[in-house]
Amino acid sequence: MNKAVVIGSGIGGLTSAILLAQRGWKVTVLEQHYRPGGCLHRFFRQGLGFDTGFHYVGSAGPDESFGRIMRHLGVYDRVQWRPMDAAGFDVLRFPEFEISVPRGLTAWQQRLEEAFPSEVKGIRAYVQLHREAVSAYGLYNLDLGISSLDVIRWEEMPLTTVLSELFSDERLRAVIAGHGAPLYGVPPSEAPFGVHAVVTDHFLGGGWRIAGGGDRLAKALCSRLRELGGEILLRAEVDRIQVADGVATGVILKDGREFSASLVVANNHPKRVAEMLPAGSLRPIYRERLAEMSPGRSHFGVYFRIRGDLAVCEGRNLFRYSTWDVEAAERGGDLGEVPFYFLTAPDPGIALAIVASNWEQWSSHHVEVPSLRSGEGPAREEGYRRQKEVMIRAIVDTLRREHPTVEWELLDASTPVTAAHYLRTPNGASYGHYHTVGQMGRYRIPSAVRVRQLVQVGQSVAFPGICGAAMSAYSGLGGVLGLETLVQELRAL
Ligand SMILES: Cc1cc2nc3c(=O)[nH]c(=O)nc-3n(C[C@H](O)[C@H](O)[C@H](O)COP(=O)(O)OP(=O)(O)OC[C@H]3O[C@@H](n4cnc5c(N)ncnc54)[C@H](O)[C@@H]3O)c2cc1C
Repeated sequence: MNKAVVIGSGIGGLTSAILLAQRGWKVTVLEQHYRPGGCLHRFFRQGLGFDTGFHYVGSAGPDESFGRIMRHLGVYDRVQWRPMDAAGFDVLRFPEFEISVPRGLTAWQQRLEEAFPSEVKGIRAYVQLHREAVSAYGLYNLDLGISSLDVIRWEEMPLTTVLSELFSDERLRAVIAGHGAPLYGVPPSEAPFGVHAVVTDHFLGGGWRIAGGGDRLAKALCSRLRELGGEILLRAEVDRIQVADGVATGVILKDGREFSASLVVANNHPKRVAEMLPAGSLRPIYRERLAEMSPGRSHFGVYFRIRGDLAVCEGRNLFRYSTWDVEAAERGGDLGEVPFYFLTAPDPGIALAIVASNWEQWSSHHVEVPSLRSGEGPAREEGYRRQKEVMIRAIVDTLRREHPTVEWELLDASTPVTAAHYLRTPNGASYGHYHTVGQMGRYRIPSAVRVRQLVQVGQSVAFPGICGAAMSAYSGLGGVLGLETLVQELRAL
């Protein structure tokens, strides 16, 4: 029997594991955390559950892109899908201006035309370009053949270039960029139009939550994998990937345990994968390029019990900008500033706010991020705690001022160091690789590297978001299982 090991139980890793197990592979998923799911992880405070990296997903209807993947994996009916408000699932709030994003690209076009009547021509051209860009991604757009030739063009085209060519109203540029930037974590001047188009398109398929949050999805994927004979080992941190004659042959854990396999699937960050490989196994040019590449930006999260009416978040998320400068907001404000926050309230009585945050603002305050298996938290200096307090205060004050009828009881907060600690991602990067024009297109991270029988999956090799990370498993394992076969199976559902 073919044996595979999967490093990491994020949605990219679990999707890969199920695809292999469905085809008779004996699969072992090795997860360093004490809970499976990666960004699907949910934590509890005072009995209330908070999601970390899953608040909603797009296109989860049974015949839409993410819904089809879930059906193909056999988990669609194991979770309860909760559609968000079709008339406006994301509310974009700017100074003295508000617009909500409805389900469907055509409805979104109409809403933009109503709000910006002098820009109708540009909006139509924009929608046309959006459709063309999305069509270049064969795996996303199942009605088309698999072609990836065009994607370089779309991924090397900055979003700002498109927006400034098509629109003269700066507010319209901010609205389009302001919906996308927080979803992929790149400011508009560096955001590839292809990434913007695909990520926003999948959300335009309609926003969906899951009852019980990302944790329920992680549990459903894990139980499906076990049913297929696979296993998931927790607190199993991979230290090295073994390679013989250019072929991956297994992994060694930090605690010394060894697992041999004829296929190694890496769901962790590509920079970390490179560190796990023996010297000389990667092409020097790839290693150098990887070393120069930035991991993406991180985030600061604040988690609340709420009492009162947060109507703006009923079936919706709030993207709130205090400025029209989306570029600056996406880069994260200075300490104590809140130029942007994402606010969501997926269950009654709770809410959480997320703001962009940079590793550099926090890294000077901590000594090291120890392995989770050590049971120790990162060593944090007094300065780190003070800085965290300043950010919490700024966010809480902003929320109290802007939503005065709600009572906000702070239950916890997380920083980029928290993300680095729990996900072992460099710089606590929220979306893995920094998906910029300079790091996508020709310089995209490949799923196959020089080491044979090693496949990289996850958001870094595809698109940010749980749909993107799940799709990465199809494109990555396409070389092993046959991409055309996988696509045909998805199409036939
Ligand atoms: C704050 C935040 C909010 C988000 N909100 C949304 C949202 O609402 N909707 C959406 O679609 N997407 C959202 N995302 C993005 C989405 O969560 C991710 O794109 C996706 O879940 C990434 O999946 P992945 O499989 O690539 O990796 P991950 O989920 O990062 O999984 C990687 C796994 O590898 C494990 N690992 C790492 N190193 C090792 C090692 N050495 N040994 C063993 N295991 C290891 C990690 O512990 C982790 O479990 C959000 C992300 C963040 C951070």
